Amino acid sequence: MTTPPTDPDRTCENCGRWVDQRELLFNVRLQIMAEKTLDLTPAATNDLENSTESLQELIEALSCYTDEQVQEATDQVHEEFRFNLCPQCRHTLHQRIKQRRNLLF
Ligand SMILES: [Zn+2]
Repeated sequence: MTTPPTDPDRTCENCGRWVDQRELLFNVRLQIMAEKTLDLTPAATNDLENSTESLQELIEALSCYTDEQVQEATDQVHEEFRFNLCPQCRHTLHQRIKQRRNLLF
């Protein structure tokens, strides 16, 4: 049984080409994380009272954000993407990652 060419599960999400069942389809999982995250544990602050005040200040500051600003702030800490690539697009991504050049363009 052959999967129809419109099967979205076998479409390269970079070039849009449908990947035949006889070809390898590559699943990419990409995580972007901030180098450091805010440590709100009491041990990371002078004492529990200061930590509670800092947390309260943070909550008050976040309450002024729009939903989009909260989402952007969240994305800046951690984002994860999953997508499919055809063999050619995987090869291009592989080469760019190995060279650490032109990763984004
Ligand atoms: Zn492709």
